[in-house]
Amino acid sequence: MAKSTNNSWQQGLVRTMKNPKAVVTSDDLVTVINDLYPKAEVHFLVLPKENISSLTALNQDHIDLLRHIERAGQTVIKEEGHSHRKFKMGFHADPNMYRLHMHVISDDFNSTCLKHKKHWNSFTTDFFLKPEDVIESLETHGKVRIPSPAECKALLATPLKCHKCDHRPRNMPDLKEHILSHV
Ligand code: AMP
Ligand code: ZN
Repeated sequence: MAKSTNNSWQQGLVRTMKNPKAVVTSDDLVTVINDLYPKAEVHFLVLPKENISSLTALNQDHIDLLRHIERAGQTVIKEEGHSHRKFKMGFHADPNMYRLHMHVISDDFNSTCLKHKKHWNSFTTDFFLKPEDVIESLETHGKVRIPSPAECKALLATPLKCHKCDHRPRNMPDLKEHILSHV
């Protein structure tokens, strides 16, 4: 669940989605924005127009909306001319920012904003929940099964590992240099 909804910085996504200049595309159900601190060459966020705080607020009534969010992610990749790239789509298990949002991120992770081990692990471990798994969890349990706080902490502390090969970088500079070999 988002850690708190009261701090102004945590409302940043909602402010961005209300700024027409910052909106990539939208329809009656969702708004797609550019991530302000992109962790890859292309990094979008898909947010519902409905005021849903986070994954923990979802129930079975939201399954169609989740399917729509997933489709919107696939559509923005095509419409913005990125079909030649590979992408990952998913939700952070324990997000920082308010309002449910799905990351749509190109899997180069080639960005100066990607600085910390927890940034890396938030996209490359089970901390990153795929939309199909979120939907399946809703269908099966009526709510989204989210790793516990202790599990989230452990996932974010996972030793660095390349997402494309067996290389185990010693540190972030090593990882950042290594992943360029896959771009
Ligand atoms: P998380 O809550 O962990 O899923 O990540 C929130 C994402 O929002 C991060 O990737 C940030 O770079 C991004 N972000 C933070 N503030 C803003 C903002 N005002 N507008 C757009 N993206 C933002
Ligand atoms: Zn590698």
